[in-house]
Amino acid sequence: MFENILLAVDGSDHSLKAAKLAGDLARLSGGKLRVLTAYEKVPSYLGEPNLSQAIAKRTEKAETVLNGATAEIGDIPGGCETDMLSGDPAEAILRAVDTFDIDLIIMGTRGQGDIKSLLLGSQSHKVVSAAPCPVMLVR
Ligand code: ATP
Ligand code: MG
Repeated sequence: MFENILLAVDGSDHSLKAAKLAGDLARLSGGKLRVLTAYEKVPSYLGEPNLSQAIAKRTEKAETVLNGATAEIGDIPGGCETDMLSGDPAEAILRAVDTFDIDLIIMGTRGQGDIKSLLLGSQSHKVVSAAPCPVMLVR
C-alpha cells in the first residue's frame, strides 16, 4: 500500500518508537523507507576553521541519530536510505516528500524539546498542517 515511506528522526524516544513502527510497516507493505534527520544550519559568519568544526560536530551528531534509528528499523527488503539535511526540520521533511514522491510520513508526536506538557511538538505540528500525504504520529 505504501511504496515510499519517510521517517523523520531527532534521536528522541518518540522518534525511536516511530523508527521501530516504520520498519515494521515498510516490511509489511514491501515499500522503500527513507530516514531523514535535519541539523541546525551553521551561520557562515563564523568563518574558518570554526565553520568546518561546527558543521563536523553537527553532522557527527546527525550520524549518531541516523544509526540509532536504523538499528531500531532492522532490515528492509524494499531498501532503506538515510538523509542528513541542514535547516528547519519541518521544511526539510516537506521538501523530501516532494522530491521522493513520499506517500506516508512517520514521525514522533514530540521530540527533544523541553516542554513536556506539549501535546504536539512544533515540527510535527508544521508537518501535519502542510503535508500533502498521510502523516502517522507516534507516541
Ligand atoms: P519543539 O522542538 O517544538 O520544542 P519537540 O522537540 O518536543 O518540541 P518536535 O521537534 O516537533 O517536538 O518533534 C516531533 C517529531 O518531529 C520528532 O519525534 C521527530 O520525528 C521529528 N523531528 C523533530 N526534529 C527533527 C529533526 N531535527 N530532524 C528530523 N526530524 C525531526
Ligand atoms: Mg524539537
